[in-house]
Amino acid sequence: MKYIDIDKLKELPGRRIKADDTFSFRCYPGIECFNRCCRNLNLFLYPYDVLRLKNALGISSDEFLDQYVDVVLRSGNFFPDVLLRMSASKEKTCPFLVDTGCSIYADRPDICRTFPIEHGILYDAARKKDAALHFFRPPDFCQGQHENQEWTLSTWSRDQDAVLYHRMTIRWAELKRLFQTDPWGAEGPQAPGPKWPLWRLTISTAFANL
Ligand code: SF4
Ligand code: SF4
Repeated sequence: MKYIDIDKLKELPGRRIKADDTFSFRCYPGIECFNRCCRNLNLFLYPYDVLRLKNALGISSDEFLDQYVDVVLRSGNFFPDVLLRMSASKEKTCPFLVDTGCSIYADRPDICRTFPIEHGILYDAARKKDAALHFFRPPDFCQGQHENQEWTLSTWSRDQDAVLYHRMTIRWAELKRLFQTDPWGAEGPQAPGPKWPLWRLTISTAFANL
């Protein structure tokens, strides 16, 4: 999920997909590129992803965050992002990838469900609401884009059991918008050493106390 600058909309990679547009895609075991996409990813996780994954793994949110993610604060952001940590192997595979595919498939994150579509968020100032934009953007090696099964955004979301995930992701985007300016003052992440309590408390509330 990226926040999109309306002035740069036309420069974004991929084909924009609107509600009635279609795209072709099919992924299945046995396709030439099977499992190739589940490696070396910047795989952003949102709170609902964390909730589903930690329940699927039978561990607490704290344990999940300790074992499976990197927390990063990107320049110009005032709330950290949570990324699934890829393995340390040369291939940097997803920790949930096994020979037969995704070992947590029923609880895979929103980004994996949405692929090969990428979501972006555009703030609609007139309606004071976030609106989702969608781009068809499979990597070149993905052979699924050459299959002839056709989808719309809604048929794809339903097929991937992603409707609730998308709703949660938009809600999270609305909440995160509150952090577009620095709300922390002296208690923020730029403050030295132990002066981070408010920031830490907020992360733990958002991701860990689910
Ligand atoms: S690269 Fe595309 S077709 Fe191949 S396994 Fe991944 S999603 Fe499926
Ligand atoms: S969570 Fe599953 S679908 Fe997503 S990258 Fe990892 S193995 Fe692939």
